[in-house]
Amino acid sequence: MSADPLVVVDRLQTHFPVRRGLLRRVIGNVQAVDGVSFSIAKRRTLGLVGESGCGKTTVGRSILRLVEPTGGDVRFAGVSVPGRNAADLRALRRRMQIVFQDPYGSLNPRMTVRGILEEGLVIHRMGDAQERLTRMRRALDRTGMTAGALERYPHEFSGGQRQRIAIARALVLEPEFLVLDEPISALDVSIQAQVVNLLVELREQLGLTYLFISHDLSVVEYVSDDVAVMYLGRIVERADAAALYRAPLHPYTLALFSAVPSIDPARRRRRILLTGDVPSPSRPPRGCRFHPRCPLAESVCREVDPPETTLDGHLVHCHVAARELEQAAGDVQAVAARIAAAMVAASAKPASDAAPASGTLGM
Ligand code: SF4
Repeated sequence: MSADPLVVVDRLQTHFPVRRGLLRRVIGNVQAVDGVSFSIAKRRTLGLVGESGCGKTTVGRSILRLVEPTGGDVRFAGVSVPGRNAADLRALRRRMQIVFQDPYGSLNPRMTVRGILEEGLVIHRMGDAQERLTRMRRALDRTGMTAGALERYPHEFSGGQRQRIAIARALVLEPEFLVLDEPISALDVSIQAQVVNLLVELREQLGLTYLFISHDLSVVEYVSDDVAVMYLGRIVERADAAALYRAPLHPYTLALFSAVPSIDPARRRRRILLTGDVPSPSRPPRGCRFHPRCPLAESVCREVDPPETTLDGHLVHCHVAARELEQAAGDVQAVAARIAAAMVAASAKPASDAAPASGTLGM
């Protein structure tokens, strides 16, 4: 994605054991994240989208080692994060911060804003009392809050103001990289745009790098330089944001995007309704993980995990997309249109008729 990445995630795996019985024996694993790879260049934003439960939040937390990865690697500024001891990890964490979804639950109600902001500065031994105060005032000012907030408690603020305080808590440590985990989804619609614009301004002013996790595809398009789409613990498609929104290739991406309303007639898509539930991440289907819900699934999809196909930085894991790209000599736009038309046609048919014959889009 870039010659100069700040964050490199390489085949990251985070599995959680499933225990049962008196002895709490491990009887399986929830494969929350299973072989995720991407990189984020300095000053860029990668949007990570997918349905709830697809593993995107676990990716963000695994990068910061708030949950322990079970495999793969994460490198920040060239340094491997999983291998660090506690002291090294603390130093890295100052440079990598997270803003959580819930501005109500993420701020300690028993601490003043001063206590909340100063805690990280004390842990990281940043400055004396006067310098810490200067840093806290500066962080609040950057998020549109006044220094008067310092002596007040979280419950005295609105949801939007609390999220600004949460952002100030991350900024006070002067990080380079922020994981923004659904940072606006708990806010009133009326103030979501203000917080999104604040995040964009801060990125420009401070040269920050973001991993922006969200299920809101319109916001992700606005904020992101690149976008990755996750399904059941894996990335199924990744591209430059403009390219992905113009010509999505993966059937799951198409279904997701078809639900986004648009006032632009050229961007309006026929709604593609997926049937069936997302399979359990403790027992993902063999072959393509999306095949039980995919209207274009063929016999190969049920047996063989689709490998990565990349064309001009547009990456997709899909047998049909790979074949169509080869047949269309890499004309992404034409392939996206063909797959979209086939999806609409197949999803309109009864389930028993939906799967096209192997080797054709059935058009
Ligand atoms: Fe998966 Fe096959 Fe559907 Fe592609 S066409 S998404 S490989 S099931």
